[in-house]
Amino acid sequence: MQQRWADRDEVDVYLGVGANEGDREAAIRTAIAALAVTPGIAVVRVSRLRETEPVGGPPQGRYLNGAVHLRTALAPHALLELCKALERAAGRRFDGVRNGPRPLDLDLLLYGDRELDTRDLTLPHPRLAEREFVLAPLRDLGVDVAVIPRPVAGPRVFEEPDAFAAWCDARRRGGCELGLVPTMGALHDGHASLMRRARAECERVAVTIFVNPLQFGAHEDLDRYPRTFAADLELCRQAGVDAVFAPRVDAMYPPGFCSRVAVGREAETMEGADRPGHFAGVATVVARLWSLARPDRSYYGRKDAQQVAVLRRLQRDLGLSGALVECGIVREPDGLAMSSRNRYLAPADRRAATVLHRSLRAARDAFAGGQHDRDALLAVARAVLDAEPRGRLDYLELRDEGDLAPLPAGRVPRGRMLCAVRFGEPPTRLLDNLSLRGADEEEPW
Ligand code: AMP
Repeated sequence: MQQRWADRDEVDVYLGVGANEGDREAAIRTAIAALAVTPGIAVVRVSRLRETEPVGGPPQGRYLNGAVHLRTALAPHALLELCKALERAAGRRFDGVRNGPRPLDLDLLLYGDRELDTRDLTLPHPRLAEREFVLAPLRDLGVDVAVIPRPVAGPRVFEEPDAFAAWCDARRRGGCELGLVPTMGALHDGHASLMRRARAECERVAVTIFVNPLQFGAHEDLDRYPRTFAADLELCRQAGVDAVFAPRVDAMYPPGFCSRVAVGREAETMEGADRPGHFAGVATVVARLWSLARPDRSYYGRKDAQQVAVLRRLQRDLGLSGALVECGIVREPDGLAMSSRNRYLAPADRRAATVLHRSLRAARDAFAGGQHDRDALLAVARAVLDAEPRGRLDYLELRDEGDLAPLPAGRVPRGRMLCAVRFGEPPTRLLDNLSLRGADEEEPW
């Protein structure tokens, strides 16, 4: 006996059907008839067709909407292709007008209990639960719409590295470009600007929130580092982030973990001189996150310019995947670079902390006024810093604008000035940097 095509993996599938141009009912009935004669598809039931108001898009006529219950062994993407072919056959133009009028609309709503998230197909349909014009016909067909898995409101949260890696892998296999934004939490608008840029450039965005003990020295602020997970998650939700990876320390570094990524001599200067081992800790956690997520793009803030230089080197040396995107500094209205550590500052120190930006700007203004001597430019910034008694200077340097290599004394054609200053007790260290050609600095998102 000939075996029926569908004996193996037959799945109950629900399609949304709609039209608001031409003979709407004829277009819908023609498409359903075409589905019914397609090998590999059985049409089980068709809902009542309803008149509905258009949702979103330009002014347009009312829709006729319904749903169809199919049984099929066709894979989700094969079905999607078929639906698109039927839409084209009905005269639909794919002219880029979002929610525009159409002679036929076929939406894959439910494919068994499959959850799928690819570039061109997400299952269940992501806007299903919000659309009464879809829910009503599904109810006609006996679907218990209350138990349809709803798209999670806000990002998926992962604690386990393997689960996060599997999620990233599934996005990539689905053809989505993945953006990664590593953070230590206590998120502010500086972090959000990285997420906004990732959102604009990638189809899926993952944020990591992990206060990495490896990058803190013995007497640093690891224990008191602010942890504000609920607020962080809300900020990620508002930025349209798809996944948040917030592992426990013992999941990132299980017992026995003892490897470190060594970084070059340059990482022993500036931040590295004040914080021995800091960049090895940063490089180790980033290499670990990178290998879990294997992002197409990862996003870092220029506020930590030396960190960007170290990570660029790491990426080149180890051949880590994807592009490293350096993002502009987000500042408070008075010029202070946003930082999770700003909240430690006593009010008087908070007011005094504008000295970092003021000193860098003074050097930039002197450069614009024709002063191009390295030491004279440093002296200009230094004078501003010295005039603020609440700040204790850790370092002030003028480096190459790109790779932050030291610049010889004498005339500098361009450069980036960097400083770190401590305020209060226990000390809060703040960082800042500015290109001498400040006008060239890229605006943050
Ligand atoms: P953190 O949580 O301090 O490790 O920072 C996570 C990422 O956000 C790093 O790439 C930082 O450089 C970036 N970042 C922090 N503050 C700012 C800011 N004010 N503007 C732009 N990026 C920032």
